[in-house]
Amino acid sequence: MSSASSPVTDIPGVGPSTAAKLWRLGIATLIDLVSHFPIRHDDFRRVTSVAALATGRPSVLKGRLQLLTSRRGFRRRRMSITEGLFEDGTGTVRAVWFNQPYLSKQFKAGDGVFLVGTLVNGKYGPQLQSPLIEGIDAGRVAGRIVPVYRATSGLTQRQIRTFVDRALHIAAQVPDIIPDPVRTKERLMPLARALREIHAPTSMQGLSAARERLAFGELLPFILSAIRSDRLRQREQAPAVSLDSETLKKFTAALPFALTDDQRRAAWEILNDLARNRPMYRLLEGDVGSGKTVVAALALLNVARHGMQAAMLAPTDLLARQHYKTLAATIGTHVPVALLTASQHEWTLSDTPTKKRILTALSKNEVAVIIGTHAILAHAVALSSLALVVVDEQHRFGVEQRKTLRRKGVNAYPHLLSMTATPIPRTLALTLYGNLKLSVLKHKPVGRVPIRTELIAPEKEDRAFSLIRQRVGNGEQGYVICPLIEESDAIGAASATSEYERLKEGPLEGLRVGLLHGGLPTKEKQRVLDGFRAGTCDVLVSTPVVEVGVDVPNATVMLIEGAERFGLAQLHQLRGRIGRGTAPSTCLVMSDDRRPETLRRLEALVNISDGFELAEADLRHRGPGDLYGIRQSGLPEFRIASLTDITLMQRIRNVAESIIARDPSLGSYPLLKKRVDAMARNVHFE
Ligand code: ADP
Ligand code: MG
Repeated sequence: MSSASSPVTDIPGVGPSTAAKLWRLGIATLIDLVSHFPIRHDDFRRVTSVAALATGRPSVLKGRLQLLTSRRGFRRRRMSITEGLFEDGTGTVRAVWFNQPYLSKQFKAGDGVFLVGTLVNGKYGPQLQSPLIEGIDAGRVAGRIVPVYRATSGLTQRQIRTFVDRALHIAAQVPDIIPDPVRTKERLMPLARALREIHAPTSMQGLSAARERLAFGELLPFILSAIRSDRLRQREQAPAVSLDSETLKKFTAALPFALTDDQRRAAWEILNDLARNRPMYRLLEGDVGSGKTVVAALALLNVARHGMQAAMLAPTDLLARQHYKTLAATIGTHVPVALLTASQHEWTLSDTPTKKRILTALSKNEVAVIIGTHAILAHAVALSSLALVVVDEQHRFGVEQRKTLRRKGVNAYPHLLSMTATPIPRTLALTLYGNLKLSVLKHKPVGRVPIRTELIAPEKEDRAFSLIRQRVGNGEQGYVICPLIEESDAIGAASATSEYERLKEGPLEGLRVGLLHGGLPTKEKQRVLDGFRAGTCDVLVSTPVVEVGVDVPNATVMLIEGAERFGLAQLHQLRGRIGRGTAPSTCLVMSDDRRPETLRRLEALVNISDGFELAEADLRHRGPGDLYGIRQSGLPEFRIASLTDITLMQRIRNVAESIIARDPSLGSYPLLKKRVDAMARNVHFE
C-alpha cells in the first residue's frame, strides 16, 4: 500500500512521462497531489434545457450534437475555429471553440454529450463560447460539484482529477498541524475529511467547511509567524535619528515640483519613526508613478545628515543605476552618494572610483548614501553605521538579511522602509501582519493626465505605429513591449530582437529605435537605457525588463504586443512607465486572443486606471490563491485561503494570539512550530 510520501508513479496510470508533467506543477508524491487544491469548483449538478438557457449564467446542458466541424480562421489563419450545433429536445443552440481542433476528432455529430458553459450574445446571435464538452457515458463533470485545478500543458483536468482521486486514500495519514483543542473549539472539520471534501465535494456546505479548515491550516502558521517576529522586534534597538528640518526644507525647495499632501504625510510618518530608538518597519504603498522615490530621498538624506549611513536596495542593476542618477542629482548636493552593484560603481566625490575605493570609502563613512542591489548586503561589514535601509519593489527582506545588518555587539538594527506599487489593502495588511505600519500615496502628483488605454487588433497595427510616429514628431518617446514567450530569457530576447529588426526596417523606419532585453550585457543595457533617458533614442523595443521602476517622463506612448501573455498586475506595471509627465499618454494593448478571460482582463485594464481599483476588480473575478500581483506583493501564494475573507482571517488572528499568549515558544505544538519556522522566510520584514 502506498503512503503519503510515495512517488506519484505508484498511481495506476502514472508513468515517467506523466510524472514529469506533474513535476511541473510541483507534484512529486501522493501528498503533493492531495495538497494540489482546486483553484475553484463548478457546480454542475443541475441540468438546464436549451429552452431555459439565459445569457451570462454558467449552465449544464444534456443532449445531442447535430453538427461539429473545425476550420481555420478567415483573417487570422493561425486560429482554428470549431463550431457545433447542439439540441436537447427543447431547442438548439450554437457552440464555438477556438484553438481546440482536436474536439472534432473526439466527438462527432450524433454523439450524446454534456455541454457546460455560458451563453453569450455574439456577433451571430446567442452561442456558447468554448463550453466544456464530455460524453454522456464518460461524464464525470455534469451532475457534480467539480474541482478545477491549475493545469499544465499535456495534462487534462480529467487526468488530474483521476490521479487526485487515486491518491486520496492517503488523506488519513496527513498529519494535522492544528492542535486538537483548537480544532474542537473552532469546530473545524477533521483534516482527512476536509481533504476528501475539497477534491470531491458532497455538498456546498461540506465544501465550504473544508475550505475553512484548510484555510485555517494555511493561515494559522503564517499569522503566528508574523506575531512572533513582531514580538522579537519589540525588543530590538535602533539608532534614533532626529529631524533635520532645515536640510529637508532646503532639499524640497530645490525640487522642480511641490510635494503632494500624500507625500508630505508619508514622509512625516517615516521621519517620526526614525526618531525613535525602535527599528521602523514600514511599508510605503503607492501606485506606479505616485512618487515614492522622493519620499525615500527625504528619509535617506535625514539619516545621512546625522553622520549615519543609509542604503537603498533596488531589484535590478538598471533600477539601482536610475536611483543613483536621481539621488546623486538631488541629495548628492548635500551628502556623498555612491552606487555599487555587481557591474557598476560610481561615487559623487570621484569621477572614476574603483570598486575597492568605494568599499574603503564605505567603511570610513565617506559614503553617506549607498545605492545598489541586494548584493551590497555582502559588504555589510563595511556599513559600520548603517541606520536606514530602503527596499524598493522587492518585498522579501528575510530574517537572514536582517541579521546581516545587525550591528556587532549590540542588539541594534537599522530602520527599514519597503516601497511597493502592489496594493495590499490596509485591512488585509493589518490582519495578516498586525503591527505593520503602512503609509499610502493615494493620489498622484497634480497635473498628470490619466493614461488612455486602448485595445488594438494586430491587423490594425498600422494605427499604433502612426500614433508612435506622431508622438515622436512632437518630441516625445515611446515603448514597444514584446512578451517573453517562455520563462527563458533567450526566447524573449529572440522575439524582441526580431521585432526590433522588423520595426526598424518597416513600420518605424527613419526613427531612432533602441533594443533592450535581459540577454544583453549589463553595460549595454545601461547604455541603451541612458540613451533613451537622454533622448538620443525615440522608441525602445523591449521585453518586460522595463516593467519595474523605469522612469522616463518624456515617454508618452506604449504598445504592448501579445498582451494576453501578461497578468493584469504586470500590464499595469508596464503601463506605469508612461504617464509620468504632464503630457497625455496612450497605452495600446495588442492581442489576437479572444478568450473571454483574456478580454475581461484587458477590458479591466482599459476601463480602470488606478492600480488599487484594478486589484479589487481582479479580486472579484479570480479565485483565491490567484490574487492580483500576489507574486510581487511578498505574500506567500496561499493555495486555498481567500485573502478577501477578512472575517476568517480575523478569527484566525484571534486564535493565533491566544496560542502565543499561552505558549510563546509553541513548545507544546511541535508540528505547528515546525510549520511556523518554515513560514518565517516568507513574511514581510521578518
Ligand atoms: P514611483 O512611485 O513609481 O516609484 P517615482 O518616484 O519614480 O514613482 O516618480 C515618478 C515621477 O514623478 C518622477 O519623474 C518624479 O520626479 C515625479 N514626481 C514625484 N513627485 C512629484 C510631485 N509631487 N509632483 C510632480 N512630479 C513628481
Ligand atoms: Mg519606483
